[in-house]
Amino acid sequence: MIYLDYSATTKPDDEIIDTFNKVSKNYFGNPNSLHRLGIESKELIDNATKQIAKYINVDQNEIIYTSGATESNNLVIKGVCTKYKNRGNHIITTKLEHSSVASTLEYLTTIGFEVDFVNVLDNGLVDIKHLKSLIKDRTILVTISAVDSEIGIRQPIEEIGSILKEYSKCFFHTDMTQCYGKSKIDLTNIDFASFSGHKIYCFKGIGGLYKKNNIVIETLIHGGKSTSVYRSGTPGTELIVSFAKSTRFVMEKIDENYKYIETLNKKMKKGLSKYEKVVINSTENSIPHILNISILGIKPETFIHSLEEYDIFISTKSACSKNGEISSAVYSLTNNEEISVSSLRISLSHKTTVREIEEFLRVFDICYKKNIFSKN
Ligand code: PMP
Repeated sequence: MIYLDYSATTKPDDEIIDTFNKVSKNYFGNPNSLHRLGIESKELIDNATKQIAKYINVDQNEIIYTSGATESNNLVIKGVCTKYKNRGNHIITTKLEHSSVASTLEYLTTIGFEVDFVNVLDNGLVDIKHLKSLIKDRTILVTISAVDSEIGIRQPIEEIGSILKEYSKCFFHTDMTQCYGKSKIDLTNIDFASFSGHKIYCFKGIGGLYKKNNIVIETLIHGGKSTSVYRSGTPGTELIVSFAKSTRFVMEKIDENYKYIETLNKKMKKGLSKYEKVVINSTENSIPHILNISILGIKPETFIHSLEEYDIFISTKSACSKNGEISSAVYSLTNNEEISVSSLRISLSHKTTVREIEEFLRVFDICYKKNIFSKN
């Protein structure tokens, strides 16, 4: 099998599975309990949180655990809008956002909020001038992904954060799910950031939200205090400890992995560029982990299934987007419908080997010829 869909999800590391099993067996106490078993579990969580906080350079009280980035995005966007609706009803975002941001905003428009979309330039970066022109007195939130899940553009969120600092009524959220552990990020001027475990070789069902200390938002889930008043429920000690460990694994090798994946990406791009019908949609600002391409005239689903016959796995758009729609992310970049209906996402990992890239290119050639030939 050649798995090239790492942006959709990753296979948990064996060491992470071992950690999960050990913690589940030995530290099953409820971390909210006052007795020794509870205190031991709570200590494990606190140590894990300290570790995560260290790697993203924030205070440990600024981390809220959730079930994943979908919940984090819902929590922060609805939490800000509910809390600050008397300040204003205007939100700014991009067309590059994941469905968990886009759908949440769409819902908010049905209850009186207004959403504006900032343009992206030809190189995929947010048009900062346009962003500034969109900010109004009643803008309460700007939400822009650090790296989008389809084209992999690494946005200048640090710069956007410092611009937005001047607007004291407006909060800045970034969805860093596709950036966490892949490209370094400075959260100094960012109020909120979402992340998820299963993108970094941990489990589905664990993620988090960084929320700057002293910012109050409304909570989605009411209950006891737990590890944070913003997310009630018994914390999953085994999930949190596993997440801290997988964070350490990816963060310790972030530069090394990035460079290695860059070499894989170059090889892949070089191999694919020679095909007449192939358009490379990822730009020089995309992280090397994500390579978005279109094969003009070929349905992405058909091509994915052709590759699957050879046990090779890639994606159309993002795994969470609705079927049959054009990619709004690719369309916002290219303004070209033909390109946007035929986009495919290949996503790479430090676990991907050069041999896998070579084999992928060999099979791609077969599938390309088969699909182009069957059309003519
Ligand atoms: N945001 C982005 C950018 C993503 O890529 C994903 C996962 N595809 C999510 C949010 C949702 O994450 P989760 O699966 O943890 O809910």
